[in-house]
Amino acid sequence: MEAAGHAPRTGEGSAWESALSQLDQVAEIINLDPRLHQVLRHPKRILTVSAPIRMDDGLVRVFTGHRVHHNTSRGPSKGGIRYHPDVTLDEVKALAMWMTWKCAVMGIPYGGAKGGVVVDPKELSMGELERMTRRYASEILPLIGPERDIPAPDMGTDEQVMAWIMDTYSMNQGYSVPGVVTGKPLSVGGSAGRSWATSRGVAYVTVATLKHLGMPVDEARVIIQGYGKVGAPLVELLQEQGCLIIGVGDVEGAVYNYRGLSPGALAAHKAEAGTVAGFEGGDPISLDQLLELECDVIIPAAIEGVITSHNAPRLQTRIVVEAANGPTTPGADEILHERGVQVVPDILANAGGVTVSYFEWVQDLQAYFWKEEEVNERLREIMEEAYVRVLGMAEEMKVTMRQAATILGVTRVAEAHQTRGLYP
Ligand code: NAD
Repeated sequence: MEAAGHAPRTGEGSAWESALSQLDQVAEIINLDPRLHQVLRHPKRILTVSAPIRMDDGLVRVFTGHRVHHNTSRGPSKGGIRYHPDVTLDEVKALAMWMTWKCAVMGIPYGGAKGGVVVDPKELSMGELERMTRRYASEILPLIGPERDIPAPDMGTDEQVMAWIMDTYSMNQGYSVPGVVTGKPLSVGGSAGRSWATSRGVAYVTVATLKHLGMPVDEARVIIQGYGKVGAPLVELLQEQGCLIIGVGDVEGAVYNYRGLSPGALAAHKAEAGTVAGFEGGDPISLDQLLELECDVIIPAAIEGVITSHNAPRLQTRIVVEAANGPTTPGADEILHERGVQVVPDILANAGGVTVSYFEWVQDLQAYFWKEEEVNERLREIMEEAYVRVLGMAEEMKVTMRQAATILGVTRVAEAHQTRGLYP
């Protein structure tokens, strides 16, 4: 399990302000009905809970958690649960809104949700982590369920955490309900291919973007910020495509090697040291330097707000592929656009995760499981279709890929709203 790190202070507003500003921009471009615009600017429901936990030393600590449903017009809501010391309600609201657009962009029948607990999971023992997860899950029980809202892993959470949530929910129901969460271990109804799905989707759009811009994939120089569930498999997947991963960083530090870092040796170092920092197959550099290296592709795969109007003018890349959610502030977006940097937005680039989560839910509901090749092939089809669609819209409407993807998402959600009508 990965965790920790402190969100950089961007001075450019919160993630929620970024999410609202992206929606407002698109509402203006497509002339969105102001009544609907108002609805979409507000999360449907918010629950904040306190989870008191008996710690190993006998003391009690109270953890604060949230679960937000942004919109459910297209289906039950879906979104990860984050364990991180910097979690705020505003951040969870932003992540939930982005989930709404992401599911709509991919054509998946879900709305958007997100959850988070203010905690550094690295500081807890396994027992404390399990008790906290089960208590948080119990507190948000009224909101979740396979027809209602289906959580998944995000920063600081993993398969084991999902298994505890599934078990807690099932114990309360009196029978096993695997479809209540996705990203579970295979032994309790997880899907083949889920753990690498987000990275697979990111690798797919990275290669597609290089090709679209007429740049060689072979030896394309890639920087990856974040070496967790998404970042680590990416190193391997992109190297298989012929790319050179010249820099990688995590919360503890970064390494650089212009000839390319060896994925196997890097993974072995991380397994032993718990971080990529100190890897001997490269030179140590700072996290700030990492993003400013000369390269072809930068892939932020950690947290929000790392590409800001302060460092955007200094990035020496042609492409940014957003594996993380919300890594680029609206101010940076404008600068990168002016500088001709192609930004492939989060709601498209990292949607491979929710796509295979959807496959997992479908398999759980049918109690019939697919082979990994089938999962990967269906993922590729959906990623390709969404990528081509968003790129086509961006070119046709002369907008950025983020604007095109948000337009596609908002339009699909708007259509569902209009068709259903306003209750009562
Ligand atoms: P993780 O907890 O497994 O890994 C996070 C990585 O980011 C770690 O290597 C950590 O050291 C690093 N990190 C944290 N703070 C940092 C900082 N300040 N500077 C540099 N590195 C830092 O999380 P993950 O699941 O890989 O998620 C990473 C991002 O991808 C998040 O934005 C998440 O919302 C997004 N995402 C994840 C999934 C998924 O399936 N897990 C799907 C879609 C999007």
